[in-house]
Amino acid sequence: MDFAFSAEEEAFRADLRAFLDEELPEWWRGMFVDDERAIPLTREICRKLAERGWLTMAWPPEHGGSGASPWMQTIVREEMWAREEPRGPQYMNLNYIGPLIMRFGTADQQARFLPPMARGEVIWCQGFSEPDAGSDLAALRTAADDRGDHFVVNGQKIWTSYADAPADWCLLLVRTDPGAPKHDGISVLMVDMASSGIRVRPIGTMAGPHEFNEVFLDDVVVPRANLLGEQNRGWEVIVTGLTFERVGIARYARAGALLERLVEHANATGLAADPRVRQQLADLRARYEAARVLAYRAVSQQAAGEVPTVEASIARMHATLLEQDVGHVGLELLGPVGLLRADDTRAALRGEVPRQWVRNVPTTVAAGTLEVQKDIVAQRGLGLPRPR
Ligand SMILES: Cc1cc2nc3c(=O)[nH]c(=O)nc-3n(C[C@H](O)[C@H](O)[C@H](O)COP(=O)(O)OP(=O)(O)OC[C@H]3O[C@@H](n4cnc5c(N)ncnc54)[C@H](O)[C@@H]3O)c2cc1C
Repeated sequence: MDFAFSAEEEAFRADLRAFLDEELPEWWRGMFVDDERAIPLTREICRKLAERGWLTMAWPPEHGGSGASPWMQTIVREEMWAREEPRGPQYMNLNYIGPLIMRFGTADQQARFLPPMARGEVIWCQGFSEPDAGSDLAALRTAADDRGDHFVVNGQKIWTSYADAPADWCLLLVRTDPGAPKHDGISVLMVDMASSGIRVRPIGTMAGPHEFNEVFLDDVVVPRANLLGEQNRGWEVIVTGLTFERVGIARYARAGALLERLVEHANATGLAADPRVRQQLADLRARYEAARVLAYRAVSQQAAGEVPTVEASIARMHATLLEQDVGHVGLELLGPVGLLRADDTRAALRGEVPRQWVRNVPTTVAAGTLEVQKDIVAQRGLGLPRPR
C-alpha cells in the first residue's frame, strides 16, 4: 500500500496551483464575504476549469468528464479547499449532485443535467433541512402532491446555502406519501429555482452572505420527469448523497494550509522555541495526517463503486474537529493581533485565523452534526439500534 501521489499527479497539482495563483485575485477570501465579486469569480473559475478539462475530470467521458482517476479529483478537492473553494457553490455539483444523477437518474435526466454541470454553467442548492427536520431529516414535511405527470409542492426549507447565489436548480426532498413510515414516504425532486411559487429569503448571520437562506414553496409545479430515483424511495438517494457530500470536501486541506502558515509564523516570531507551541503544532500535524488518510480510505471505497457511509462519517469527524482546533490554536498563537479582521492593516496572516475560527463554528453542524456522525457509526458501524 503506497499513499504517495505519482509524479504525474504531483505535476498536475503544481499546474493547478499555478492556475490558482494566476486566477485568484488578492481580494479573494472565499464565498462567504461581503463582496459582490465573489460569486461571479467562482463562475469564471469553473468555466476556465471546465475548458481545461479539470472541473469534472473524474467523471466518465459520456457525462462530460475526462475519465481521470479519483486521485486526480482528490488533488483538485484538496487544492480548492486549501484556497477557500474557488469553485464556489458548484463544488456540490461535482462532488455529489452530479454523481447522484449518474447513479439514480434516467438516461434522459443524465443527458439534461450533467453536461451543464460539466461546463461549469449551473449552480445547484440542496433543499433538505426544514424548521422541524434537521438531524431528524426523515421528519421533513414539505409535501409533493402527485398529479400524474407533475407534482405540486408546498412547504418550507431552511439553511439552504447559496439559494440566493442565485441557484438555478434545487435538489429538493419532499414527502410524497404522508401515510407511510417516515423514512419510506420521501422522494427527491430536481426543481427549477425559476419556477413560479418559489421565494428565497436570505438569513444574515456571522457566517456571511449566501451561507443560509429560507426557501418557501407555494404550489410549485414540478414535472414528473424531474423525479430522481423511485417515488417514495428517496431515503436511499439521500443517504448516498450525504455520504458523497461528506467524502467530497477535503476539509483537512484547509486546516493543513493554515497549519503551514502557523508554522511559518512560529518560526518567524521565535514562538517555535516554546515547548507548548511545539507540542500543539506537532499534535495538529499528526491529526492532519490521520484525517487525510481516513479521507483517502473513503475516496478509494467510493471509487470502487461502494457507498462508504461509516467511513465518510469517521473521516468527517476527524477533519471537522481538526479544522476547529487549528482555529483555536491559531488564535492562541497569534494573540490579540490574531483577532483583527482581514481589512485591518495590522491583521496577522491576512486575518485568516479569525475567519477560520468563525467558519469552524458551524463545521460540525453542516452535512449532519458531530452527534449525527457518531450515531451513523454507532448504528451502521457497530450495529447498535436506531436512536429512539
Ligand atoms: C454551514 C451550514 C450549511 C448548511 N447548508 C445546508 C444546505 O445547503 N441545505 C440544507 O438542507 N441544510 C443545510 N444546513 C443545515 C444542516 O444540515 C442542519 O443544521 C443540521 O442537520 C442540524 O439540524 P438542526 O440545525 O435542525 O439542529 P438539530 O437537529 O435541532 O440539533 C440540535 C442539537 O441536538 C443534537 N441532536 C439532535 N438529534 C440528536 C440525536 N439523535 N442524538 C444526539 N444528538 C442529537 C444535534 O447534534 C445538535 O447539537 C447547513 C448547516 C450549516 C451549519
